[in-house]
Amino acid sequence: MSYVDEVLERVKTKNASEPEFLQACEEVLESLRPVIEKNEALYKKEALLERLVEPDRQFKFRVPWVDDKGQVQVNTGYRVQFNNAIGPYKGGLRLHPSVNIGIIKFLGFEQIFKNSLTGLPIGGGKGGSDFDPKGKSDREVMAFCQSFMTELCKYIGADVDVPAGDIGTGAREIGYMFGQYKRIRGMYEGVLTGKGLTYGGSLARTEATGYGLLYITQELMKDHGESMEGKTVVVSGAGNVAIYAIQKAQQMGAKVVTCSDSTGWIYDPEGIDVDLLKEVKEVKRARLTEYAAARPSAQYHEGRGVWSIKCDIALPCATQNELHLDDAKQLVANGVKAVCEGANMPTTLDATKYLQENGVWFICGKAANAGGVATSALEMTQNSERLSWTFEEVDAKLQQIMVNIYHNINDAAKRYGMEGNYVAGANIAGFEKVANAMLAQGV
Ligand code: GLU
Repeated sequence: MSYVDEVLERVKTKNASEPEFLQACEEVLESLRPVIEKNEALYKKEALLERLVEPDRQFKFRVPWVDDKGQVQVNTGYRVQFNNAIGPYKGGLRLHPSVNIGIIKFLGFEQIFKNSLTGLPIGGGKGGSDFDPKGKSDREVMAFCQSFMTELCKYIGADVDVPAGDIGTGAREIGYMFGQYKRIRGMYEGVLTGKGLTYGGSLARTEATGYGLLYITQELMKDHGESMEGKTVVVSGAGNVAIYAIQKAQQMGAKVVTCSDSTGWIYDPEGIDVDLLKEVKEVKRARLTEYAAARPSAQYHEGRGVWSIKCDIALPCATQNELHLDDAKQLVANGVKAVCEGANMPTTLDATKYLQENGVWFICGKAANAGGVATSALEMTQNSERLSWTFEEVDAKLQQIMVNIYHNINDAAKRYGMEGNYVAGANIAGFEKVANAMLAQGV
């Protein structure tokens, strides 16, 4: 049995109840086969893969808070510090009822390679809670965030572990959490990223994941002799990633005709009105039915369905496992050229395989959505320097980082004879740096 198979077997036995984590391990280790085979004796002796798939440590804690009726509610909080070989643990906090340890571990594992790909010194971590901010009052969200941070603050720090936003955690939640950290610790430090601009946040951080996704997509198109101009783009999601992906795609001359939320989706053949979408989602925190009600050209459909729309480029920006094999088949039948992931692992393994086998240029989330965490790292740099850069400075750095990621993953795939396989390229390039650091640092 090969070393990769041995480790995969072990992961399956040890983590049988964590399907998302298993899926992520399988995806990464499968595409690392050629690299591992080349260094099998050394990696095996050093138990490198066993160490890589086991988090440094994980915290699970009770989060009690009082709702508006005076009733005490209890949620579960998590923080997984996966790997700090190349820098402090770094990764978002997901607040969603689906959150469990397996989901946080999968996200933390992906984060190791994503953060490595940015070229910046940040390790991998992730956290969150099964708390659902939807439908809660501002005071309830504050009560939850304060209680969550009362426990989390024991494990984090600007040089230790720097959490940030993710699904359910936006500027409001980061503000409440940062306030509580500061209150307890009695000092200011850049312990979270995605902070407000008045207290140490970075310009362009809000836009960064969506913009970065389009910068890498543009570079991909350019490399294949194409441009974004005049392309029809299908986007899923209507959160922070989707909104700024739509905005940047439109600035590049493409037409984005869809978006979606947890209950339905919009087809707007005249192109999504980003200002209206922002108003509905960010200001009113309402459903997409409100977008449709205010926009005559928009059609609202219940359920899921954005992948049925004919397009040149598809950008899944909602959540994990949202693009299935049937969707991939429909996209290919409709002539899609590129799929780039704005969310983390939105495409299932069989759908990814189908897209790649049918000549679709596919960039996985750990490369395509790395612009968010990269800009978080730029926020950390600004905090350390006690300086604030202009929007243009940050945006230019972000753009360069995304262009570099494209060429790094492309080159890594070529080095191992897998030209055009950006998934393998991303895993290999992300892994090499972390593996070398782990070997250099001993056990
Ligand atoms: N949650 C984002 C991600 O998945 C951003 C993390 C961060 O900025 O630390 O990469």
